[in-house]
Amino acid sequence: MATQVEARTYKNYIDGQWVDSTTGETFPNINPATGEVLGYFPKSGKADIDRAVAAAQRAFARWRAVPAPRRAEILFRAGELLVQRKEEYARGMSLEMGKVLKEARGDVQEAIDMTYFMAGEGRRLYGHTTPSELPDKLCLTFRMPIGVVAAITPWNFPMAIPSWKLMPALIAGNTVVFKPSTWTPQSAYNLIAVLEEAGLPPGVVNLVFEREVGVSQYLVEHPGVSLVSFTGSTATGTAIATICARQNKRYSLELGGKNAVIVLADADLDLAMDGIVWSAFGTTGQRCTAASRIIVERPLVEEVQRRLVERARALRLGSGVDPQTDVGPVINEEQLKKIRGYMDIGRAEGARLLCGGEIARDGDLGRGYFFQPTVFADVRPDMRIAQEEIFGPVTDIIPVDSPEEAVRVNNATPYGLVTSVFTRDVTKAMRAVEGITTGLVYVNAGTIGAEVHLPFGGTRNTGNGHREGGIGALDVFTEWKTVYIDYSGRLQKAQIDVA
Ligand code: NAD
Repeated sequence: MATQVEARTYKNYIDGQWVDSTTGETFPNINPATGEVLGYFPKSGKADIDRAVAAAQRAFARWRAVPAPRRAEILFRAGELLVQRKEEYARGMSLEMGKVLKEARGDVQEAIDMTYFMAGEGRRLYGHTTPSELPDKLCLTFRMPIGVVAAITPWNFPMAIPSWKLMPALIAGNTVVFKPSTWTPQSAYNLIAVLEEAGLPPGVVNLVFEREVGVSQYLVEHPGVSLVSFTGSTATGTAIATICARQNKRYSLELGGKNAVIVLADADLDLAMDGIVWSAFGTTGQRCTAASRIIVERPLVEEVQRRLVERARALRLGSGVDPQTDVGPVINEEQLKKIRGYMDIGRAEGARLLCGGEIARDGDLGRGYFFQPTVFADVRPDMRIAQEEIFGPVTDIIPVDSPEEAVRVNNATPYGLVTSVFTRDVTKAMRAVEGITTGLVYVNAGTIGAEVHLPFGGTRNTGNGHREGGIGALDVFTEWKTVYIDYSGRLQKAQIDVA
């Protein structure tokens, strides 16, 4: 069911003004379910990046001087506006990205939660006070903003992920150049429109759309940028890290995943199946937290396979805005081909396709980028389909002989984002929690469901050790200033004036 939307032309937001790009060119924002053009966005060039960074640099001196509780008031207003427009923004997101409305609402809600959570930090931003080793001396720490933050984001959480970067950056007193994914520009526009309306001063946030990776890379390299906050693929993250390392620039990376649901022999299977279906096929498998491996103790393998195939076949594909739809399209043709390619790889490696495995072309589906929910069986842990991020509605069943083997298999991928474990035995659950080396672990829940006030991020190639979410996010967007105040009236020497 196509929804006709007027194809409006949008602008960049630089120094408090909505402006055309210096190239004068635009690119279309395409609905991946129908191929329909939803709007046109500026194809920016390097000159637009220069202007945006210069505006952010100018605004930094003013913004960092605004007391954090005042900065917070703007964020609280932005949160309220997002609440008011949640339905409209969710619908726009569903159209441009494909995720079903229920999940798009969740994406906007996550942005609301993060905005309020970080606004609350405006009255905390705690440092430490601690005794000195010397008398008549005070020691304390403050958080300092870092400068201009380049926020570069993927398309799969078009509003939530930008909010994870923008809100902590802003509350801490940084200014931002936001470069959203080419595939979801509308949601980026909506978020910035709200911040503008909430009263953010000119230059504090700047939004630049682009179509060329080179322009995005130019932003990373820009000497006026002090911190790059990136979420996306591991390959892009590594390229960004290499540039930043050469410039001693701060950078935080949230990258790919190859997550697993572990089903132990004593699991509540009804609950586990609900968790697996949601985690493997929710957001069409296009979540960094998607479960693309189901590690099952052997006694349950047949039953899990049977039930999963039944559930996967029953999922209805369609446009995300259609209330009947369970699984939306994938984001674009390139992604569709990549997923299709993994079907040949899996078969060649000896995995058995239980269901799906093809591009879906029936009726209206042929107009968009749809892939059948797919389950592979007889998967060995070292197969490419069990090691590489496919980022589509595809999951593998990997049989194991013990809970210990399940944990070993779980940990043996290049990624380390999420694991979930289903068991009724608290001892087995705790042993698994102890042994699992991913950044997030769920017990008796799927791999999806992070909350904004807890740390989010992964080990190994999923990132570079930073966490988004929680107050730990502030560690990315601030540096510590340590202050010693000596009121003894004489020159005291630490480590030397010992009794
Ligand atoms: P991507 O790496 O292709 O692109 C991400 C962003 O980087 C986009 O804005 C893109 O335009 C930009 N970009 C691409 N090449 C660049 C370069 N050389 N220099 C600077 N910028 C560049 O990723 P994607 O396809 O948009 O997103 C999917 C990936 O994101 C998956 O791997 C997924 O696991 C990951 N992801 C991770 C998390 C997490 O928190 N760990 C969350 C969501 C998505």
